[in-house]
Amino acid sequence: MEPAGIRFARPIRIRPVLAGALAVSVALGPAALPSAAGAQGVAGSEGSVSLEGVIDLHVHAGPDSRPRSVDDIEAARAARDAGLRAILLKNHFTMTADRAAVAMGQVEGIEIFGGVVLNRAVGGINPEAVRQMATFSGGRGKVVWLPTFDAEHYVTAAGGGAPYVSILAEGEPLPAVQEVFALIAEHDLTLAMGHSSPGEVLRLIPEAKRLGVRRILVTHVFGQGATPEEMRQMAAEGAIMEIDWLAVYNGGRTIDDYVSAIRALGAEAFFLSSDLGQAGNPLHAEGLRDYIAALREAGVSDEEIDVMARRNPARLLGLDPW
Ligand SMILES: [Zn+2]
Repeated sequence: MEPAGIRFARPIRIRPVLAGALAVSVALGPAALPSAAGAQGVAGSEGSVSLEGVIDLHVHAGPDSRPRSVDDIEAARAARDAGLRAILLKNHFTMTADRAAVAMGQVEGIEIFGGVVLNRAVGGINPEAVRQMATFSGGRGKVVWLPTFDAEHYVTAAGGGAPYVSILAEGEPLPAVQEVFALIAEHDLTLAMGHSSPGEVLRLIPEAKRLGVRRILVTHVFGQGATPEEMRQMAAEGAIMEIDWLAVYNGGRTIDDYVSAIRALGAEAFFLSSDLGQAGNPLHAEGLRDYIAALREAGVSDEEIDVMARRNPARLLGLDPW
């Protein structure tokens, strides 16, 4: 499908020869740049995007039951070559903590993490899947996603009567959900909300916090249909909301949608991700580069991008800020 959301008059690419120098520039910040740097286009024009220190918390890669452009190792190498600090492998149907550990043994110079999505393929809301993931050798399992393609909200909205996984019963969190939250807390993992409805997310955030969960990310919050007021409440509760490039690339959202939300709630409430890896789509780092360039063009500052692309993802993984 032809992406309809955003067009660039000029191709936005970084020349490899510039990458090292630009990384230093970003680390120092604009104030520390020599005046000649502007001539290289460091301050936000074409070719100036550095991915040094960036973390992508939404990386799809094969093997998968859906067509993917690259496998885990190739995705990790490409991200490392582009300067990324870390990636989080996400598979809707199988755990990735083990795959991340294997990839870590093959690719140096980048941190690779994984997790588990509680869809039907792992038994739905199955505490044992979380318990095992958390104790796998390599220690790469960091994130537990609530159901995505099997989420009640997602399946019922799609119609067709497919089976789904519930997380609430009569508005209250199911006991298995509470057990999963307790395991996330015990193992210091991160809770991701999957394709839950905004109402479910707002019901579950306080419950997760009550059970000791320390880090909560709201999966592509625009894709879940959250209203500005619901986003405000999620931010007020301390959750960090994902805004992904894929939705803009596919034309479902515009950069202006995201910028409005950033202006309303602050960059601290959001993190950037690619959500790429689909066969035929650009690779993760390429998408992130275009994403950051588009945000800059829309007036988002490098400091705000730093928060959303580097610091917040690091916080969500429990890593030191970059
Ligand atoms: Zn995805």
